[in-house]
Amino acid sequence: MVKVQGKPRVAIIGGGISGLAAAKELRDLEPVVFEATDSIGGVWKHCSFRTTRLQTPRPDYEFTDHQWDDRNDPTFPTHTEILNYLHGFATRFDLWKLIRLRAKVVEVRFIGGGGSAAGCFTEMWGENGKAIADRPVWEVGVVTGDSDSVQRFEFEFVVMCMGKYGDVANIPRFPDGKGPEIFQGQVLHTMDYCKLDQEAATRLMKGKKVVVVGYKKSAIDLAVECAEANQGADGEPCTMVIRTLHWTVPSYSIWGLPFFLFFSTRKGVSKFIESYLAWKLPLDKYGLRPDHPFLEDYASCQMAILPENFFAEADRGLIRFKRANQLCFWEGGVTLESDGNDCTKLEADVVLLATGYDGKTKLTSVLPGPYRGLVVDSSGVMPLYRGTIHPLIPHMAFVGYIESVSNLHTSELRCKWLGSLVKGEFELPAVEEMFRQIREEVDVMKRTTRFYRRHCISTFSIAHSDGMCQDMGWRSWRKTNWFAEAFAAYGNQDYIENGRQEEEDDE
Ligand SMILES: Cc1cc2nc3c(=O)[nH]c(=O)nc-3n(C[C@H](O)[C@H](O)[C@H](O)COP(=O)(O)OP(=O)(O)OC[C@H]3O[C@@H](n4cnc5c(N)ncnc54)[C@H](O)[C@@H]3O)c2cc1C
Repeated sequence: MVKVQGKPRVAIIGGGISGLAAAKELRDLEPVVFEATDSIGGVWKHCSFRTTRLQTPRPDYEFTDHQWDDRNDPTFPTHTEILNYLHGFATRFDLWKLIRLRAKVVEVRFIGGGGSAAGCFTEMWGENGKAIADRPVWEVGVVTGDSDSVQRFEFEFVVMCMGKYGDVANIPRFPDGKGPEIFQGQVLHTMDYCKLDQEAATRLMKGKKVVVVGYKKSAIDLAVECAEANQGADGEPCTMVIRTLHWTVPSYSIWGLPFFLFFSTRKGVSKFIESYLAWKLPLDKYGLRPDHPFLEDYASCQMAILPENFFAEADRGLIRFKRANQLCFWEGGVTLESDGNDCTKLEADVVLLATGYDGKTKLTSVLPGPYRGLVVDSSGVMPLYRGTIHPLIPHMAFVGYIESVSNLHTSELRCKWLGSLVKGEFELPAVEEMFRQIREEVDVMKRTTRFYRRHCISTFSIAHSDGMCQDMGWRSWRKTNWFAEAFAAYGNQDYIENGRQEEEDDE
């Protein structure tokens, strides 16, 4: 058994935004951050390509105590700008000394219950009211650098920040004998495309018949990159193959008002956005108007901001759209089936699968039984109290597994809450009470959107934050007057740690 120098009590797994926020909020405990790759930043390093930009405006994707230098710049930051911003954050708070790069966690084992599965369940949260166990509870197996051997370290608390995206590709299922193996062209998942440099990416697509499978943000960006690579006489159009349509937004402003305003105030307004989008964008012309309400996409964090030239490239014929329920391969391309009968054959040289990632498999691959089986409940959601604690997994937190319009804000506030919990400033409620609150939340999500499994809190993130503020002893209504409280957008800066109830009462 190897002990980490200085015997840190807390392990943080992952060095993306969530892991960095956790490291900063728990830094008094000198945690160790295990990051599998050679860089911090997570998706902004490994799931990004040339045109990948943030879709959240800069000031909303900002740590409460580390502002962007150019926070009023209205452009959406590129992934390189985000990485620079995160490096600045790590340097400012002296986090580098806590971070171990090229340290991949391959296994997490429970050692707090005598090693038996039955023992695990006797050691629930709230047993002694303490988040930190005061004795080793988890053993973390780590492979570093190019080594094959697993080093094992013991911790009293583990924060899982491995990310919902990246590392494990979500590949569609294909009928037997109709998968990529019979295709004579190239098939890449977005994850592979992200590894290409600009020259290789252009070479891959220029003059080629490219099919992009998917219609979320990465698929849309990929289609635009493909169109840009195919300018000129020998250019070929790119075809987007779409199973489920989603609402897309042309910019961050709707009827001249920042889009964020419609949902980040206590009085949300949303209905008329659909008519605006149908008027503003050629959705009917291209058959791209979703059947479901806009709110369902917003409530599941699936709405994409369109690159400026997306429909311009479609108008020039360089991006085309096809609907399909089932995609299959043949030697020379793909076949598309809609409703089981209509079958279209498309020729293709390259098929890009922008079909997302399987974050749950990534997470369960390192967790031990029986906890592995608890991570996702029967409704397909991760049951996390305050989006952070699994009531049946003791001395462990999960950050980055629920989403909102600003995942940085969502992760940071939960890490502040976690910091307060481990300092013993409040205690968790009983397991049954945590489950009751989780059930209520899942019911709200189920009522709002059919895509509730994405565990997005965008429509009730203020209420979610209110609960955490109350736990921490902060004021939950954080504006300075009732007018601002009702109509001004809530953002990260409202959660600077200065609104504690006690301070208010002392004044
Ligand atoms: C293309 C794209 C665009 C996005 N745009 C937005 C946006 O506009 N606004 C927004 O709010 N959100 C956006 N998101 C969501 C984004 O995922 C979050 O904003 C945020 O960056 C997630 O951070 P994270 O730390 O939780 O996860 P990640 O960034 O995925 O970081 C996880 C880290 O854990 C590491 N790791 C994984 N497994 C292990 C292991 N076994 N051992 C050690 N380390 C491990 C990974 O290498 C990675 O560095 C976008 C996501 C993608 C993919």
